[in-house]
Amino acid sequence: MVRTHRTETVVVGAGGAGLMAALYASRGSQTVVLSKLYPTRSHTGTAQGGIGAALGNIEEDHPEWHTFDTVKGSDYLADQDAVERMCYEAPEIVYELEHMGLPFSRTPEGKINQRPFGGHAAEFGKRPVPRACFAADRTGHMILQTLYQQCLKHRVKFYDEFHVLDLVLSPDGRAAGVVAYDIDQGELHLFHAKAVIFATGGFGRIWQITSNAHSLTGDGPAILLQKGLPLEDMEFFQFHPTGIYKMGILITEAVRGEGGVLRNDQGERFMERYAPTMKDLASRDVVSRAIYLEVKAGRGIGGKNYVHLDATHLGREKIEERLPDIADFCRTYLGIDPAEQPIPVQPTAHYAMGGIPTDVEGRVRRNAAGDLVPGLYAAGEVACVSVHGANRLGTNSLLDIVVFGKHAGQDAARFCQQNDWPELPEETWQPSQATIERILNNTGEDNAARIRDEMQAVMMDHVGVFRTAEGIQKALEKIHELQERVRHVTVSDKGKRFNTELLEAIELRNLLELAEVTAQSALNRTESRGAHYREDFQQRDDEHWLKHTFVRKEDGQIRFEYRPVVITKYQPQERKY
Ligand SMILES: Cc1cc2nc3c(=O)[nH]c(=O)nc-3n(C[C@H](O)[C@H](O)[C@H](O)COP(=O)(O)OP(=O)(O)OC[C@H]3O[C@@H](n4cnc5c(N)ncnc54)[C@H](O)[C@@H]3O)c2cc1C
Repeated sequence: MVRTHRTETVVVGAGGAGLMAALYASRGSQTVVLSKLYPTRSHTGTAQGGIGAALGNIEEDHPEWHTFDTVKGSDYLADQDAVERMCYEAPEIVYELEHMGLPFSRTPEGKINQRPFGGHAAEFGKRPVPRACFAADRTGHMILQTLYQQCLKHRVKFYDEFHVLDLVLSPDGRAAGVVAYDIDQGELHLFHAKAVIFATGGFGRIWQITSNAHSLTGDGPAILLQKGLPLEDMEFFQFHPTGIYKMGILITEAVRGEGGVLRNDQGERFMERYAPTMKDLASRDVVSRAIYLEVKAGRGIGGKNYVHLDATHLGREKIEERLPDIADFCRTYLGIDPAEQPIPVQPTAHYAMGGIPTDVEGRVRRNAAGDLVPGLYAAGEVACVSVHGANRLGTNSLLDIVVFGKHAGQDAARFCQQNDWPELPEETWQPSQATIERILNNTGEDNAARIRDEMQAVMMDHVGVFRTAEGIQKALEKIHELQERVRHVTVSDKGKRFNTELLEAIELRNLLELAEVTAQSALNRTESRGAHYREDFQQRDDEHWLKHTFVRKEDGQIRFEYRPVVITKYQPQERKY
C-alpha cells in the first residue's frame, strides 16, 4: 500500500536550511517538510561557534572584507558573485533571526556580541576581526529552535521520521515529488509536488574520525546521482583541526577565537611557524595540515597522532561563560577540566564543500553548462552554490544555510505560483519498494556495520588530509568491493516498524556512492587546492584547475565535466595567513 499526498512545495530535511526554506516557501505555497529525524535533532543543532556577519559591533568591519576572506579561504575556487550575495546579505539576515527571537549573546551595551574565527580578518587579511555572532557555544541549537518555532507558527506541515528514498521526475524532466518511508509504520508514501527542495545536510560518515552525526549519510546527493544528475566539487571535504582525539567530537574553533592555542609535544605554539599573521586562526585546511606535519615530524603528544589545544590561560570564568558546552564535553568524554588541562585533539572530517550544484536561487543545475532541472532546489550543506570553494571558513555554513535556504524557499514559492502540477510517471514507488524487499529477503552473511567500518577506515587512510594517486586507487578498489558486498547485506530485523537496520543498509549504500565519487574526483584533480592536498601534486595549478568539477554516473561509469569559476573582483593570489 502506498499512500499518496499532493502539495505544492516539499522540503526534504529539517535542519537550518530546510526550515528557512520551508518558512519562505510557505509564504507563497502549500509547504510540507519531511525529515528522517525529529526536526530539532538535526545536525544544525550541534553547531557551536557562531554565524558570520560583518556587523562591526566590536571593531570596524565590512561585508567587502568578509567577501574577500571567504574567497581567499576558498583558495579562489568559490564563485565570487555567490559569495558577494551571502556576505552582503549577512547583517540583514542576522537581524532577521534576532527579530524572530534568537537569543544572541550580548555586549555590555546590549549589541549582538562577536568573536574572532579562523580566516576572518580586517582590512583584507591584516589581523583577526571579531565577526562571529554567537549564542554562547550553542548557536546552531538556538537557530534550529527559533526557525522550528517560526515554522510551527506559520503552519508548515511536518512529517517527522519520514525517510526519503527517491526523487520523482516527470516524463518531461521536471521535479514531480518524492517517495518516502514512514519509519514508524513501515509504509511508503508518495508526495506529488510542484517543487522539491533538498536540504539533507552533509555526509561526513564516510570517514572514521568525524564530527558529523550518525544521520549524515548523504542521502540527498546519492539519490540525485542515481537519477543521473551531477554533483559538484566532491574532492573538497573539510577536516576540522580540533576533534577530540580518537572520538572526532568537535571542539569548536571558538576556543581558539577566544584565545586558546595549539601546542605540540614540546609545548611550542607551532602555528606561529606555519601562519605568522593569523597563527591559530589561520584557515582550517592550513591548521589541519600543520597538525599532521607536526605529528609526522615526531612532535605529536608522546609521539602519538594528536596535539594539545590549550585553553588553560583563559580562566575558568571566561570558559564557563563563553564555552559552557565545550567545558562539559571535556568533563564528560575526557574526564578533564579545560580550565586546568589542555585538550587532546586531532583533525576530524567535518564539512562537505561539494554537493548538489545550484545557482544563487538554489535551483539545481543539470549539467556544467548550467541548464536547470525545473522545480528542483537544494540548500544548505547538501548544496554547492559555490560559496566555500575548496575550503570553508568557520561560521560561513550557518550563514549559507539561512541565506540560501531563504532564496530557495522564495524561488520555489514563485515557481509554484507560475506552474501547475507536473505529470507523474507510472508506479513511481516501485524502485523503492524493490530495494526494501531485496534487503529484507537477502540471506548472506555480511552486515552493514562491518562494511561501514571497512569503508571508513580506507577513506581515513587514503582520502583524508593528505592524498596520493596510489592511495586513492587503493581506496577505490576497496570501495568497489564493498559496493558489491552491500548488495547482499542482510538484516536480522524483518519487521515493519522502526526497522533502523533496514534504513542503515540503505544509508550505507548512499555513503558508498559518495565515497566513490569523492575518491574519483580526488584522483582526477591533479593539483593541491584548499582542503584537497595531493602529495604527488603539491602546487595549486590555476592554469589547468581553476574550475569546478561536475561528476556524474552514466551506466555505472564516472564522467567529468567542468564549469568555470565566477570571478568578479579578486584575481587568484598566493594564500598566506
Ligand atoms: C559539530 C558541528 C559544529 C558545527 N559548528 C558550526 C558553526 O559554529 N558555525 C557554522 O557556520 N557551521 C558549523 N557547522 C556546520 C553547520 O552546522 C552545518 O553545515 C549546517 O548546520 C548544515 O545544515 P543543513 O540544514 O544543511 O543540514 P542538517 O542540519 O544536517 O539537517 C539535515 C536534515 O536532513 C534530514 N534528512 C537527511 N536525510 C534525509 C532523508 N533521506 N529523508 C528525510 N530527511 C532527511 C535530517 O533529518 C535533517 O533534518 C558545524 C557542524 C558540526 C557537525
